[in-house]
Amino acid sequence: MQTLRASKCGLSTTQLPSSILDVIDSLTKAGYAAYIVGGGVRDLMLGLNPKDFDAVTDATPAQVKEVFGRRCRIIGRRFELAHVYSGRELIEVATFRAPPKKAVTSASGMILRDNNWGTIEQDFARRDFSINTLYYQPRQGIVLDFCNAVEDVKSRTLRFLGEPAQRFEEDPVRMLRALRFAAKLNFQIDQSILDVFNPDMTQLLRDVSPHRLYDESQKLFTMGHLTRVLPMLIDFGVWKQLFAEIPPNITAFIERAARNTDQRIQIGKTINPAFFYAVLLWKPFIERCDFYLNKGIVPAEARAQAGLDVLKRQATRTIIPRFAETFIREVWEMQTRLLNPKPQQIEALAGHARFRAGFDFLLLREKSGDTQTEGMGVWWENYQEMSVDQKEAAIRQYNRQRTRTRRKVADADEAKVSEIEPLVNEPEPRNRRAKKERVRTTESANRFIEKATMDPHQIHADHPILKRKRVQRDLSQVVFGPTQ
Ligand code: ATP
Ligand code: MG
Repeated sequence: MQTLRASKCGLSTTQLPSSILDVIDSLTKAGYAAYIVGGGVRDLMLGLNPKDFDAVTDATPAQVKEVFGRRCRIIGRRFELAHVYSGRELIEVATFRAPPKKAVTSASGMILRDNNWGTIEQDFARRDFSINTLYYQPRQGIVLDFCNAVEDVKSRTLRFLGEPAQRFEEDPVRMLRALRFAAKLNFQIDQSILDVFNPDMTQLLRDVSPHRLYDESQKLFTMGHLTRVLPMLIDFGVWKQLFAEIPPNITAFIERAARNTDQRIQIGKTINPAFFYAVLLWKPFIERCDFYLNKGIVPAEARAQAGLDVLKRQATRTIIPRFAETFIREVWEMQTRLLNPKPQQIEALAGHARFRAGFDFLLLREKSGDTQTEGMGVWWENYQEMSVDQKEAAIRQYNRQRTRTRRKVADADEAKVSEIEPLVNEPEPRNRRAKKERVRTTESANRFIEKATMDPHQIHADHPILKRKRVQRDLSQVVFGPTQ
């Protein structure tokens, strides 16, 4: 073990938020050892902005609770942990762990439960990658390095502590962690890991709970390097395990959505992690819709059933929480609404809670070459930029266009109808009088039809149909389609 000067590793207390210093100081004052460990130290050394700081101590969770009182909650079963609230932030405080005494493992060697407290050396040995094992004591200004981890940080290498195959068997989620760190930090994966990281090994992911895999998938989606990690998921055979029903192929739509997600994270915009699931599952959803439509099921019902089916199948791998499922189905349902909105509903649609996500989705589809959107992505994009007057004009124009298209469709349908043989063949009239009568009724029927279909401008201004008031529904309150 080496004790390094923190300043030599590029670390200083000025980089740390007061919340983590508060936790370290309180534990030290109470007589316990306390360090910052893991991703926070690693990221600071790499000049990155850590997403959080984890603390580790020789105090048991119960003792941590004694120090922080009501600011502390003990959580977890497999790993008992203390959550400490400092200001508005939450710091995870773990107790040094020893290897499990009694092997509480599954048939495939996976550790199921272990709350066995130990020394800092034992705690170190249980961690996954060398770069995640630096212990930083900010007040003493020291870093404890048990395995030359600083060298691995410098040479940007991802290396396991111990034997890679065994480390994967103990916890197959480490496969996802390996790809996440390699992509996020732009590190190379050490050859000893590559040697065992094959499709056979990824089969072990089938033993991991779909809840945990969902959490890990979210971390992959939101780390800011989704474009880099997606091809890796395919190459290493992890994709097949996580998204069994989604073809392992990065389509133009998926690629564009991934780039968009990364860019949003880079500029600090919020993202809904379920959005990317909506993107990934879009193709299976459309195929399933077609399956039901071909069976003659009405479109709304087909979409509802297809949505349920696709999410249910995905749940065998990663269980998407209910609220995220609702979000995904609403984004899909929005695609239909945005594609062919009723003119009088356009403004309300633009104010709907799901509009933004639905619109982003539509535009991504369109920009990645999906012609099914019929240019409505750009139409909505322009619409949002318009003044009130421009919006009214745009809606009028859209309405005219829509009526024309509908008429064309109706004409086509009519043409089809006239080709169909009448169900009842009217017999030819026998006598002259009857023939005359038939001609007369046909002529008057034609006159009636002519009148009814004449130019609407000729309808008088006080025609009752023009006096009818339209009832505006507040669509921002309506939850669409299958989630109703
Ligand atoms: P980040 O927070 O940036 O995703 P991290 O390295 O901090 O990365 P966490 O999941 O926060 O990752 O875990 C904190 C530390 O706990 C890790 O650095 C690692 O030392 C240890 N750890 C986490 N998960 C595992 C695991 N599955 N096996 C072994 N050690 C782990
Ligand atoms: Mg962390």
